[in-house]
Amino acid sequence: MADAGLFRDHFAGRTVVVTGAARGIGLGIATAFAGAGADVIMVDRDDQVRQAAEDGRAAGLRLTAVPADVTRESDVAAVFDRVAELTGRLDVLINNAGVITINELEHTSLDDFNRVLAVNTTAAFLTARAALPLLRQGDGGVILNAASGQARQGFIYTPAYAASKFGIVGMSQSLAKELAPANIRVNCYCPGIVRTEMWAYNDREWGRRLGDYRPGELIEEWIDDIPLGRPAEVDDVANLLLFLASDAAVYITGQAINIDGGMFMN
Ligand code: NAD
Repeated sequence: MADAGLFRDHFAGRTVVVTGAARGIGLGIATAFAGAGADVIMVDRDDQVRQAAEDGRAAGLRLTAVPADVTRESDVAAVFDRVAELTGRLDVLINNAGVITINELEHTSLDDFNRVLAVNTTAAFLTARAALPLLRQGDGGVILNAASGQARQGFIYTPAYAASKFGIVGMSQSLAKELAPANIRVNCYCPGIVRTEMWAYNDREWGRRLGDYRPGELIEEWIDDIPLGRPAEVDDVANLLLFLASDAAVYITGQAINIDGGMFMN
Protein backbone atom coordinates (compact mmCIF):
# COMPACT_ATOMS: atom_id res chain seq x y z
CA MET A 1 0.00 0.00 0.00
CA ALA A 2 1.11 3.58 -0.62
CA ASP A 3 2.72 5.28 2.35
CA ALA A 4 -0.42 6.57 4.02
CA GLY A 5 1.83 7.05 7.06
CA LEU A 6 2.85 10.46 5.73
CA PHE A 7 -0.83 11.38 5.52
CA ARG A 8 -2.20 9.22 8.35
CA ASP A 9 -5.72 10.39 9.23
CA HIS A 10 -5.19 13.45 7.00
CA PHE A 11 -8.30 12.56 5.02
CA ALA A 12 -10.45 11.39 7.97
CA GLY A 13 -13.97 12.74 7.56
CA ARG A 14 -13.37 13.50 3.88
CA THR A 15 -15.06 11.79 0.96
CA VAL A 16 -13.07 10.78 -2.11
CA VAL A 17 -14.52 9.43 -5.37
CA VAL A 18 -12.15 7.39 -7.57
CA THR A 19 -13.21 6.23 -11.04
CA GLY A 20 -11.65 3.19 -12.69
CA ALA A 21 -11.10 1.81 -9.20
CA ALA A 22 -11.66 -1.91 -9.80
CA ARG A 23 -8.00 -2.59 -10.54
CA GLY A 24 -4.63 -1.12 -11.46
CA ILE A 25 -3.76 2.46 -10.56
CA GLY A 26 -7.34 3.29 -9.49
CA LEU A 27 -7.46 0.44 -6.98
CA GLY A 28 -4.11 1.60 -5.57
CA ILE A 29 -5.37 5.18 -5.27
CA ALA A 30 -8.62 4.12 -3.58
CA THR A 31 -6.73 1.97 -1.08
CA ALA A 32 -4.20 4.72 -0.37
CA PHE A 33 -6.86 7.34 0.41
CA ALA A 34 -8.83 4.90 2.56
CA GLY A 35 -5.56 4.09 4.35
CA ALA A 36 -5.23 7.82 5.02
CA GLY A 37 -8.66 7.86 6.67
CA ALA A 38 -11.00 8.85 3.82
CA ASP A 39 -14.40 7.45 2.95
CA VAL A 40 -13.71 6.26 -0.59
CA ILE A 41 -16.36 5.64 -3.24
CA MET A 42 -14.98 3.26 -5.86
CA VAL A 43 -16.56 3.67 -9.30
CA ASP A 44 -16.01 1.25 -12.18
CA ARG A 45 -17.99 -0.28 -15.01
CA ASP A 46 -16.46 -3.66 -14.11
CA ASP A 47 -18.47 -5.46 -11.44
CA GLN A 48 -15.16 -6.67 -9.99
CA VAL A 49 -15.21 -3.31 -8.16
CA ARG A 50 -17.65 -4.82 -5.62
CA GLN A 51 -15.16 -7.53 -4.65
CA ALA A 52 -12.31 -5.01 -4.51
CA ALA A 53 -14.29 -2.85 -2.05
CA GLU A 54 -15.30 -5.91 -0.04
CA ASP A 55 -11.66 -7.02 0.26
CA GLY A 56 -10.66 -3.55 1.46
CA ARG A 57 -13.49 -3.41 3.99
CA ALA A 58 -12.35 -6.75 5.37
CA ALA A 59 -9.00 -5.03 6.02
CA GLY A 60 -10.78 -2.20 7.88
CA LEU A 61 -10.84 0.37 5.07
CA ARG A 62 -13.88 2.59 4.43
CA LEU A 63 -14.50 1.61 0.80
CA THR A 64 -17.85 1.51 -1.01
CA ALA A 65 -18.34 0.28 -4.56
CA VAL A 66 -20.68 2.09 -6.92
CA PRO A 67 -20.63 0.32 -10.30
CA ALA A 68 -21.14 2.75 -13.19
CA ASP A 69 -20.04 3.48 -16.73
CA VAL A 70 -18.61 6.99 -16.52
CA THR A 71 -19.30 7.68 -20.19
CA ARG A 72 -23.06 7.54 -19.45
CA GLU A 73 -24.60 10.75 -18.19
CA SER A 74 -27.34 8.92 -16.24
CA ASP A 75 -24.82 6.58 -14.54
CA VAL A 76 -22.71 9.57 -13.54
CA ALA A 77 -25.72 11.39 -12.07
CA ALA A 78 -26.58 8.25 -10.09
CA VAL A 79 -23.04 8.06 -8.69
CA PHE A 80 -23.22 11.52 -7.11
CA ASP A 81 -26.79 10.95 -5.86
CA ARG A 82 -25.36 7.90 -4.09
CA VAL A 83 -22.43 9.90 -2.70
CA ALA A 84 -24.90 12.46 -1.31
CA GLU A 85 -26.82 9.62 0.37
CA LEU A 86 -23.74 7.86 1.72
CA THR A 87 -21.70 10.72 3.20
CA GLY A 88 -23.45 13.93 2.14
CA ARG A 89 -20.17 15.53 1.06
CA LEU A 90 -17.44 15.38 -1.56
CA ASP A 91 -13.90 16.60 -1.06
CA VAL A 92 -11.87 14.92 -3.81
CA LEU A 93 -12.89 13.66 -7.24
CA ILE A 94 -10.30 11.51 -9.05
CA ASN A 95 -11.04 10.86 -12.71
CA ASN A 96 -8.79 7.87 -13.20
CA ALA A 97 -10.80 5.59 -15.54
CA GLY A 98 -9.03 5.22 -18.85
CA VAL A 99 -8.63 3.04 -21.91
CA ILE A 100 -6.06 2.84 -24.68
CA THR A 101 -6.07 1.55 -28.21
CA ILE A 102 -2.81 0.73 -29.97
CA ASN A 103 -2.91 0.31 -33.70
CA GLU A 104 -1.74 1.65 -37.02
CA LEU A 105 -3.81 4.56 -38.34
CA GLU A 106 -5.49 2.56 -41.09
CA HIS A 107 -6.57 -0.07 -38.55
CA THR A 108 -7.98 2.46 -36.06
CA SER A 109 -11.76 2.63 -36.41
CA LEU A 110 -13.85 5.70 -35.64
CA ASP A 111 -15.55 3.69 -32.87
CA ASP A 112 -12.15 2.96 -31.29
CA PHE A 113 -11.15 6.60 -31.53
CA ASN A 114 -14.42 7.88 -30.06
CA ARG A 115 -14.41 5.28 -27.26
CA VAL A 116 -10.98 6.42 -26.07
CA LEU A 117 -12.02 10.09 -26.11
CA ALA A 118 -15.30 9.26 -24.34
CA VAL A 119 -13.64 7.49 -21.39
CA ASN A 120 -10.42 9.50 -21.07
CA THR A 121 -11.72 13.01 -21.68
CA THR A 122 -15.50 13.43 -21.99
CA ALA A 123 -16.22 11.35 -18.86
CA ALA A 124 -14.13 13.73 -16.76
CA PHE A 125 -16.31 16.59 -17.97
CA LEU A 126 -19.46 14.62 -17.04
CA THR A 127 -18.22 13.72 -13.55
CA ALA A 128 -16.85 17.20 -12.78
CA ARG A 129 -20.16 18.80 -13.77
CA ALA A 130 -22.23 16.32 -11.76
CA ALA A 131 -19.92 16.60 -8.74
CA LEU A 132 -19.92 20.39 -8.63
CA PRO A 133 -22.92 20.94 -6.32
CA LEU A 134 -21.36 18.64 -3.68
CA LEU A 135 -17.86 20.07 -4.17
CA ARG A 136 -19.18 23.61 -3.73
CA GLN A 137 -20.83 22.71 -0.43
CA GLY A 138 -17.46 22.25 1.27
CA ASP A 139 -14.92 25.00 1.94
CA GLY A 140 -12.70 23.73 -0.87
CA GLY A 141 -12.45 20.79 -3.20
CA VAL A 142 -10.00 18.94 -5.39
CA ILE A 143 -10.33 17.39 -8.84
CA LEU A 144 -7.47 15.19 -10.08
CA ASN A 145 -7.55 13.96 -13.66
CA ALA A 146 -5.49 11.12 -15.13
CA ALA A 147 -3.35 12.38 -17.99
CA SER A 148 -0.16 10.58 -19.08
CA GLY A 149 3.29 11.03 -20.55
CA GLN A 150 1.21 11.04 -23.71
CA ALA A 151 0.02 14.51 -22.67
CA ARG A 152 3.66 15.59 -23.14
CA GLN A 153 4.43 13.82 -26.38
CA GLY A 154 2.31 11.51 -28.53
CA PHE A 155 3.74 7.98 -28.72
CA ILE A 156 3.59 6.00 -31.96
CA TYR A 157 0.36 4.03 -32.80
CA THR A 158 -1.76 5.73 -30.15
CA PRO A 159 -3.34 8.79 -31.82
CA ALA A 160 -6.65 8.61 -29.93
CA TYR A 161 -4.96 8.12 -26.56
CA ALA A 162 -2.56 11.02 -27.15
CA ALA A 163 -5.43 13.27 -28.25
CA SER A 164 -7.44 12.32 -25.16
CA LYS A 165 -4.57 12.98 -22.76
CA PHE A 166 -3.56 16.33 -24.27
CA GLY A 167 -7.28 17.16 -24.15
CA ILE A 168 -7.73 16.39 -20.47
CA VAL A 169 -4.86 18.73 -19.60
CA GLY A 170 -6.43 21.62 -21.51
CA MET A 171 -9.82 20.98 -19.96
CA SER A 172 -8.28 20.83 -16.49
CA GLN A 173 -6.55 24.19 -16.98
CA SER A 174 -9.84 25.76 -18.07
CA LEU A 175 -11.70 24.32 -15.07
CA ALA A 176 -8.89 25.34 -12.71
CA LYS A 177 -9.44 28.96 -13.73
CA GLU A 178 -13.23 28.76 -13.53
CA LEU A 179 -13.36 26.99 -10.17
CA ALA A 180 -10.51 28.76 -8.35
CA PRO A 181 -12.85 31.36 -6.80
CA ALA A 182 -14.75 28.46 -5.19
CA ASN A 183 -11.41 27.13 -3.87
CA ILE A 184 -11.73 24.03 -6.03
CA ARG A 185 -8.30 23.02 -7.32
CA VAL A 186 -7.96 21.04 -10.56
CA ASN A 187 -4.75 19.22 -11.50
CA CYS A 188 -3.63 16.34 -13.71
CA TYR A 189 -1.20 13.52 -12.99
CA CYS A 190 0.95 12.19 -15.82
CA PRO A 191 2.28 8.66 -15.20
CA GLY A 192 4.90 7.31 -17.60
CA ILE A 193 4.66 3.51 -17.72
CA VAL A 194 2.93 1.47 -15.00
CA ARG A 195 2.66 -2.28 -15.62
CA THR A 196 -1.09 -2.77 -15.25
CA GLU A 197 -3.76 -4.77 -16.99
CA MET A 198 -4.02 -1.91 -19.50
CA TRP A 199 -0.78 -3.14 -21.07
CA ALA A 200 -1.53 -6.85 -20.64
CA TYR A 201 -4.81 -6.31 -22.44
CA ASN A 202 -3.09 -4.59 -25.29
CA ASP A 203 -0.43 -7.27 -25.56
CA ARG A 204 -3.21 -9.85 -25.93
CA GLU A 205 -5.36 -7.78 -28.23
CA TRP A 206 -2.63 -6.44 -30.44
CA GLY A 207 -0.14 -9.28 -29.93
CA ARG A 208 1.12 -9.00 -33.46
CA ARG A 209 3.69 -6.90 -35.27
CA LEU A 210 2.99 -3.17 -35.31
CA GLY A 211 5.11 -1.80 -38.13
CA ASP A 212 8.68 -2.86 -37.28
CA TYR A 213 7.84 -3.82 -33.68
CA ARG A 214 7.39 -7.38 -32.42
CA PRO A 215 4.52 -7.98 -29.92
CA GLY A 216 5.35 -6.43 -26.55
CA GLU A 217 8.49 -4.77 -27.91
CA LEU A 218 7.11 -1.22 -27.89
CA ILE A 219 6.55 -1.03 -24.15
CA GLU A 220 10.00 -2.51 -23.47
CA GLU A 221 11.56 0.16 -25.65
CA TRP A 222 9.72 2.87 -23.71
CA ILE A 223 10.82 1.37 -20.38
CA ASP A 224 14.45 1.28 -21.56
CA ASP A 225 14.29 5.06 -21.98
CA ILE A 226 13.27 5.78 -18.35
CA PRO A 227 16.14 7.59 -16.55
CA LEU A 228 15.29 6.04 -13.15
CA GLY A 229 15.53 2.63 -14.83
CA ARG A 230 12.16 1.12 -13.99
CA PRO A 231 8.45 1.58 -14.67
CA ALA A 232 6.32 3.25 -11.98
CA GLU A 233 4.68 1.24 -9.23
CA VAL A 234 1.01 1.96 -8.59
CA ASP A 235 2.04 3.33 -5.18
CA ASP A 236 4.36 5.89 -6.78
CA VAL A 237 1.28 7.38 -8.45
CA ALA A 238 -0.91 7.05 -5.35
CA ASN A 239 1.66 8.91 -3.24
CA LEU A 240 1.60 11.85 -5.66
CA LEU A 241 -2.19 11.95 -5.48
CA LEU A 242 -2.24 11.91 -1.68
CA PHE A 243 0.01 14.97 -1.79
CA LEU A 244 -1.93 16.80 -4.52
CA ALA A 245 -5.23 16.26 -2.68
CA SER A 246 -3.80 17.20 0.71
CA ASP A 247 -3.69 20.54 2.52
CA ALA A 248 0.05 20.60 1.72
CA ALA A 249 -0.86 21.36 -1.91
CA VAL A 250 -3.38 24.19 -1.40
CA TYR A 251 -1.41 26.52 -3.70
CA ILE A 252 -1.21 24.08 -6.63
CA THR A 253 -3.85 24.30 -9.34
CA GLY A 254 -4.00 24.06 -13.12
CA GLN A 255 -0.89 21.83 -13.24
CA ALA A 256 -0.07 18.55 -14.95
CA ILE A 257 2.54 16.76 -12.83
CA ASN A 258 4.82 14.10 -14.32
CA ILE A 259 5.29 10.90 -12.31
CA ASP A 260 7.45 8.99 -14.75
CA GLY A 261 10.99 8.40 -13.46
CA GLY A 262 12.23 11.29 -15.58
CA MET A 263 10.84 10.10 -18.91
CA PHE A 264 9.65 13.63 -19.63
CA MET A 265 11.23 16.71 -18.14
CA ASN A 266 8.81 19.32 -19.37
P1 NAD B 1 -6.42 -0.38 -16.14
O1 NAD B 1 -6.86 -0.77 -17.50
O2 NAD B 1 -5.65 -1.36 -15.33
O3 NAD B 1 -7.68 0.10 -15.27
C1 NAD B 1 -8.61 1.01 -15.81
C2 NAD B 1 -9.92 0.87 -15.07
O4 NAD B 1 -10.85 1.79 -15.65
C3 NAD B 1 -10.53 -0.55 -15.21
O5 NAD B 1 -10.92 -1.05 -13.95
C4 NAD B 1 -11.72 -0.33 -16.13
O6 NAD B 1 -12.80 -1.23 -15.90
C5 NAD B 1 -12.09 1.12 -15.79
N1 NAD B 1 -12.90 1.74 -16.84
C6 NAD B 1 -12.63 1.80 -18.17
N2 NAD B 1 -13.63 2.38 -18.82
C7 NAD B 1 -14.56 2.72 -17.89
C8 NAD B 1 -15.83 3.34 -17.95
N3 NAD B 1 -16.37 3.73 -19.13
N4 NAD B 1 -16.52 3.54 -16.81
C9 NAD B 1 -16.01 3.12 -15.61
N5 NAD B 1 -14.83 2.51 -15.50
C10 NAD B 1 -14.10 2.32 -16.62
O7 NAD B 1 -5.60 0.97 -16.36
P2 NAD B 1 -4.49 1.69 -15.44
O8 NAD B 1 -3.17 1.37 -16.02
O9 NAD B 1 -4.74 1.44 -14.01
O10 NAD B 1 -4.78 3.22 -15.81
C11 NAD B 1 -5.48 4.13 -14.97
C12 NAD B 1 -5.35 5.53 -15.55
O11 NAD B 1 -3.97 5.90 -15.64
C13 NAD B 1 -5.90 5.65 -16.98
O12 NAD B 1 -6.53 6.90 -17.15
C14 NAD B 1 -4.66 5.57 -17.83
O13 NAD B 1 -4.84 6.18 -19.08
C15 NAD B 1 -3.66 6.29 -16.96
N6 NAD B 1 -2.27 5.96 -17.28
C16 NAD B 1 -1.83 4.68 -17.20
C17 NAD B 1 -0.51 4.41 -17.54
C18 NAD B 1 0.05 3.00 -17.49
O14 NAD B 1 1.19 2.82 -17.95
N7 NAD B 1 -0.66 2.02 -16.96
C19 NAD B 1 0.35 5.45 -17.93
C20 NAD B 1 -0.15 6.74 -18.01
C21 NAD B 1 -1.47 6.99 -17.67
